Amino acid sequence: MSNIIAIVGRPNVGKSTLFNRLTESRKAIVDDFSGVTRDRHYGKAEWTDKEFTVIDTGGYVANSEDVFEAAIREQVVIAIEEATVLVFMVDVTTGITDLDDEIASLLRRSKKPVFVVVNKVDNHQLENDATVFYGFGLGEIYTISSMTGSGTGELLDQIITHF
Ligand code: GDP
Ligand code: MG
Repeated sequence: MSNIIAIVGRPNVGKSTLFNRLTESRKAIVDDFSGVTRDRHYGKAEWTDKEFTVIDTGGYVANSEDVFEAAIREQVVIAIEEATVLVFMVDVTTGITDLDDEIASLLRRSKKPVFVVVNKVDNHQLENDATVFYGFGLGEIYTISSMTGSGTGELLDQIITHF
C-alpha cells in the first residue's frame, strides 16, 4: 500500500493551494470522474527520499447548506479510510468555525495520524493567533503559509516519519 496524505478541511482554508505546491509540475494521476470522485484530486509528490500521493478534497457542488455540510462530511469519512496521514487544514484568519469543530470530531475518532495544519500564517505576528487551534485536542499544530511555502518543509519532515 502506498503512502497517502489526504488534505481535509472546509472550503477556502487553502487546501488546493497546498496541494498544488506539493504536486508542482506533476500530472494529476486521476482526473475528473463523477460524484464523490469528481470532488477529489490525486497527485504525486516527494520529499527527500519519500514518494507519496496527495489527495485534495473539495470543489463541492451543493445547492443547500445541509447538502454542502453532508458533502464535506462524506469527503472526510472517505479520507479517513483512504489515507495514511490526514492533514486537517484550518485558517488562522478566521479562527475555529462550527464546521471546523464538526470535522475535528470526525477526525478524533480516526486511528490514523492527524496533523492540524494552520494555514495563512504569512507572518510571525499570526503565530500567536494559531494557538487557539490546540483547542481541538488533536495534538501538535503546524503553522504554514501555503502561499509562500513557509513551514511546509517542517510539516513534511514530520509527516514522512509515518511512511
Ligand atoms: P480550498 O477551498 O481550501 O481549496 O482553498 P484554496 O486553496 O482555493 O484557497 C482559498 C483562498 O485562500 C485563495 O484565495 C488562496 O489564494 C488563499 N490562500 C491559500 N493559502 C494562503 C496562504 O497561505 N495565505 C494567504 N494569505 N492566503 C492563502
Ligand atoms: Mg480547493
